[in-house]
Amino acid sequence: MKLDSFGRVLVVGGGIAGLQTALDLSRANIEVLLVEKEMLLGGTVAKLHRLFPSMISGSSVIKRLTDEICSRSEISIHTNTFVSNIKRNSNQFRITLSSRESGNPNQEIDADAVVLATGLVPVDLSLFPEYGYGRYCEVMSSIEFERLLVDEEKKGVDIFDGQDGSYNKTIAFVQCAGSRTERSGGVSYCSAVCCMNAIKNAISIKELHPDFDVWIFYIDMRACSIYGEEMYKKAKRLGVKFVRGQPSLILKKEKNNRVIVCGENTLLRELYEIPADIVVLSAGLKHPESSLELFRMFNFSISADGFPLNWKDPFEPCGTSINGVFIVGSAESPKDVHSTITQSRACAMKILERFMSNEMNSKK
Ligand SMILES: Cc1cc2nc3c(=O)[nH]c(=O)nc-3n(C[C@H](O)[C@H](O)[C@H](O)COP(=O)(O)OP(=O)(O)OC[C@H]3O[C@@H](n4cnc5c(N)ncnc54)[C@H](O)[C@@H]3O)c2cc1C
Ligand code: SF4
Repeated sequence: MKLDSFGRVLVVGGGIAGLQTALDLSRANIEVLLVEKEMLLGGTVAKLHRLFPSMISGSSVIKRLTDEICSRSEISIHTNTFVSNIKRNSNQFRITLSSRESGNPNQEIDADAVVLATGLVPVDLSLFPEYGYGRYCEVMSSIEFERLLVDEEKKGVDIFDGQDGSYNKTIAFVQCAGSRTERSGGVSYCSAVCCMNAIKNAISIKELHPDFDVWIFYIDMRACSIYGEEMYKKAKRLGVKFVRGQPSLILKKEKNNRVIVCGENTLLRELYEIPADIVVLSAGLKHPESSLELFRMFNFSISADGFPLNWKDPFEPCGTSINGVFIVGSAESPKDVHSTITQSRACAMKILERFMSNEMNSKK
């Protein structure tokens, strides 16, 4: 039996948060417009080789969600599209959508609620010149390393096979690159997922190549995810070396040599200089400029770090200061997939509750 829809929701962002929210809303017979600025759905998760703690591939998780989403008539998907204007008319929002595809003019739509699921992006690592990012090909960001791991699996390329015939056997992860800093271009908060991400990849490397040297340089290890402590201990058992003390410099003495990771081990009070073949910078995560622009359109109050200030009410974990506008996933605060799904499902429930109570009030 097809019921009349309760209302219409605009979901901005087609990462895992937007996908899960859209799906749960559609299952409750709510019409959803899902808007994604890129060509493909899936956000960061679609780019991840494996997800901690389950070690399932990121793309398979996204495929499961998108397969169901594409089969649901309540959801219309608009990729390559962004929100260019928002007007509020009493309890409704009039939104202008602009498409990057030629021949697709601006489109005006009305929505009864809006969910912002716009995620976060890595900070610009070239603003931290001491790490040599962009200067040395051995130095890469964590998301670039994920891409290498995916390529290795899909195309059978051995990513540890060096260009000069050498074999890359020393891998170093540098934590808090551009996070927990007051420096310009960085973010002052903890990006929450990068310690677990480094542990996850260190375990994968050690399981595949027990003879490799894997180092993690950290300020504090924050293995707070479920199974985090277990994975941290597993990495130690496998021989991953944890060094407390963020590197102060990554350099190369001669053109064809390996890079050298330099810093101070603050537990041993010793300086270190570790030659490495691959250095993975665990980049801090921040709002892209397009999200800040969107928050300005809604006229949100924003924290110094760019996060919309919500009620700070424990019973409104995805509410904002504007009635009818919700925020979920990393855009609300950096978090792992498990917490993202939990919050997205809670958000869909909150909107359903709101629509049902409006419906009941209108029938009184
Ligand atoms: C390197 C790395 C490794 C990670 N590893 C793990 C892991 O192993 N396990 C785990 O649980 N978590 C991991 N995470 C965290 C995980 O990626 C996040 O929990 C998840 O991506 C949050 O999903 P999201 O939908 O909120 O945001 P995102 O994945 O960032 O998706 C946001 C989407 O919104 C779109 N968008 C942005 N702005 C607009 C706009 N204005 N209009 C339209 N669309 C817009 C973006 O293009 C994107 O598709 C990792 C994160 C990183 C960075
Ligand atoms: S999760 Fe770890 S690496 Fe990421 S910002 Fe927090 S402490 Fe630093």
